[in-house]
Amino acid sequence: MKLTDSHCHLGSQKFPSDELSAIITRAKQHGIERMVTLATSLDDCSQNISIAEKFPEVYACIGIHPCDVHETKNQYIDQLTNYAKHPRCVAIGETGLDYYHPAPKGWSTEQYHSRQREFLRQHFTLATELGKNIVIHTRDRTGEESLQDAINIYRDFADRTRAVFHCFPFSLESAQPILDLGGLISFTGIATFKNAITVLETATHCPAGSFMLETDSPYLAPVPHRGQRNEPAFTYFTAEIIAQARGESLEELAVHTEATVDEFYGIGPTK
Ligand SMILES: [Zn+2]
Repeated sequence: MKLTDSHCHLGSQKFPSDELSAIITRAKQHGIERMVTLATSLDDCSQNISIAEKFPEVYACIGIHPCDVHETKNQYIDQLTNYAKHPRCVAIGETGLDYYHPAPKGWSTEQYHSRQREFLRQHFTLATELGKNIVIHTRDRTGEESLQDAINIYRDFADRTRAVFHCFPFSLESAQPILDLGGLISFTGIATFKNAITVLETATHCPAGSFMLETDSPYLAPVPHRGQRNEPAFTYFTAEIIAQARGESLEELAVHTEATVDEFYGIGPTK
């Protein structure tokens, strides 16, 4: 059985660089043969690309997280374009809309959200220009407003690129417009939390080929490591509970989620 952690943040300060080699070894011991590490700011891009250059199991995505848009200069897109052309960069992200965190000091909520939407459109434009797919974050305090806004933006680009809505917390009904546009969703360790029944429910009924597995590490460690630092090896626990809920063996789950990763990130079949 071979799996991929389709979304982690190995460039995070919570992963000291001298520990990365051990973290990747532990992942492989749990059958996690590939990892996709995502940048969240311009500074983070070079860091993630150099990790992907150093470790053949790791691929990078580059983008500006919606919570970083106020700290990013308007001219960022030229630099981002250069990073995106790097051979180890497999998609654009993490981008998206975050209506959960309050606007930073000096910004109105409307200004902050509208800059996030502008950045998201710019990331989509870059993805379509370079023929890459895109990784989307959405988060709301209540309801699904950021999800709906992001889907509406995706709709304008869906004939030229595919999006994954990562760490998907909603029902399959809410995911349907994304799947109808040719997009994907992905599930984190939240699927193992007893108080997050919807996530496991969605993962149970989501068609094979429409979802991937991820950790979003260093955050959101699954049970039995909930509350600790998360790491790519823990993809295993999320895979285990989702396979069980779907009535599949781990091997069966791995076959279709790996094929989905291969196709989405264009990184070829697991050797
Ligand atoms: Zn993330």
